[in-house]
Amino acid sequence: MKAVRFHEHGGLDKLIYEDVPDPTPAVGEILVKVGACALNHADIRRRTGEGPLPHILGLDTAGEVVALGDGATSLKVGDRVMIYPGVSCGNCEYCDAGQHNWCADFEMIGRRINGGYAEYVVAPANNARPIPKGMSYIEAATFPICITTAWRNLHTKGRVRPGDLVLIPGAGSGVSVYAIQIAKASGAVVFTTTSTEEKMSKARDLGADHVINYKTDDVVKVVRELTDGRGMDLVIDHVGEATWEQSLGSLRKGGRMVSLGATTGTHYPLDIRAFYPSEVAIMASGSHTRSDFNNGMRLVDQGRVKPVVDSVFPLKEAPQATRRLERGEQFGKIVLSVSESSEVTPATKSRPGT
Ligand code: ZN
Repeated sequence: MKAVRFHEHGGLDKLIYEDVPDPTPAVGEILVKVGACALNHADIRRRTGEGPLPHILGLDTAGEVVALGDGATSLKVGDRVMIYPGVSCGNCEYCDAGQHNWCADFEMIGRRINGGYAEYVVAPANNARPIPKGMSYIEAATFPICITTAWRNLHTKGRVRPGDLVLIPGAGSGVSVYAIQIAKASGAVVFTTTSTEEKMSKARDLGADHVINYKTDDVVKVVRELTDGRGMDLVIDHVGEATWEQSLGSLRKGGRMVSLGATTGTHYPLDIRAFYPSEVAIMASGSHTRSDFNNGMRLVDQGRVKPVVDSVFPLKEAPQATRRLERGEQFGKIVLSVSESSEVTPATKSRPGT
């Protein structure tokens, strides 16, 4: 099969479009003909970081089941599925409790296991979920990691309630485009930030109630003005170093912040004494479970959360697609089309409400 693979860690030039042996499904696994695979920041960290080589990236896959391993009886050949990438031992204290993300063997398809930048991928049958009716592979591939992460942080960790004021910095990221929609579907009042007029307009189209331009405005000041000085009940921060100060500064007394990523940097000097009086809670969230995935996808099945495709590139243009992600130019998900039409949509097109 054709795949985009890298044989050493480094820059975009390490991503090679080449012939690779077809994978075969083991016991309990399915072989999926990849329709489309979405990009994530984790792909960049994996390529520039560490892990076994050679490697095929791709955490977010959608495609057609073309073969079944022994015991994979829950699906049939021809099923259109999307793949949740988390895998674990299935037989430990945490796996038994539904917390397979805490399993010592927790791993993700696309991280240390070969992923979806390829014509075929194997996955445990249990990780597959039918694609909602009428949805393309390209649209379906936008969901697994980001809808799962958004659900976990708003609900499993953040305990969002109707009427909560919620700040989601960085409206255009894959997690944010789904967090904004899930928060709205949950009855929250959504504040978000972004950097251009065009992205501000797209954030409003997704349902955000207040969109702040962080380039031209002081986010904490605007949040205080808009809430009569009160601040946010909940902040979902996946940006890290660049936003921790504004995220903590935006919380109301007793507010909650969930920290789930650090794409801009990993260190923040916390003044512990200044932190006591407001009695805020900081929660960490570094992984997710299959039930987070299923809960998030239920809103998609109900039509309450829509796919947000930023742009589509053919598989062999994975380096160009990744450059767009590295530059932060996207609004929504950047997707590689594999077997599905490789027609490239306009690079800035997002599709909320379609
Ligand atoms: Zn386990």
